Amino acid sequence: MKVKDNLAAIKQKIEQAAARAGRKAEDVTIVAVTKYVSTDRAKEAVEAGIGHLGENRVEGIIEKHEVIGSQAKWHFIGSLQTRKVKSMIEYADYIHSLDRESLAKEINQRATKPVQCFVQVNVSGEESKHGLEPGEVIPFIESLHRYENVQIGGLMTMAPLTDDRDVLRACFRQLASLRDEVQALNLPFAPCSELSMGMSNDYDIAIEEGATMIRIGTALVGE
Ligand SMILES: *Cc1c(COP(=O)(O)O)cnc(C)c1O
Repeated sequence: MKVKDNLAAIKQKIEQAAARAGRKAEDVTIVAVTKYVSTDRAKEAVEAGIGHLGENRVEGIIEKHEVIGSQAKWHFIGSLQTRKVKSMIEYADYIHSLDRESLAKEINQRATKPVQCFVQVNVSGEESKHGLEPGEVIPFIESLHRYENVQIGGLMTMAPLTDDRDVLRACFRQLASLRDEVQALNLPFAPCSELSMGMSNDYDIAIEEGATMIRIGTALVGE
């Protein structure tokens, strides 16, 4: 399938989900997750109108950035080793996987300008998932005030692997309510306006629950 055709179908589903929730489709940004595919396929996505690309490996973001550069905004969505921050920081416009202070410290030190970071939350409590427990999120964010290059732009979660739509919805709803709590703190370094949630199988539910960034791989660019 052409990315263009997949994108048209996804946009239609976004429109419908947004309408059901009384939201505007324009308030949902698609991040094309290109971790499974070639640089050529990522380029095809950009040519189809995608402005945001997501990679979960440092090597992947470097390799594709070399060819595509600033034609897209770059999202790092995988777990990030502290020692690898230095080699990727200049390419990442967004980091979706902030989950510890040592990582914030390293980003702060290596970045030459503020980086949009999302705190990854393990809402479902699955052991295999990265991220902070919901109860840890607010104290963690409050501890980041000294890192001027770390902007807390939002929260991110990966939903559990299930087809149970009620379970998925509860997970997204909990992340949204946590985001509201962070926003209520009015911290200048943590506007926390974004909710990065929803993937190929569940982005419609995520949008109904307030997602502002959906991360789509399989359904958009393929596996
Ligand atoms: C792979 C991945 C995605 C995309 O998954 P699909 O199911 O292929 O859409 C989204 N977010 C993260 C963090 C991922 O690792």
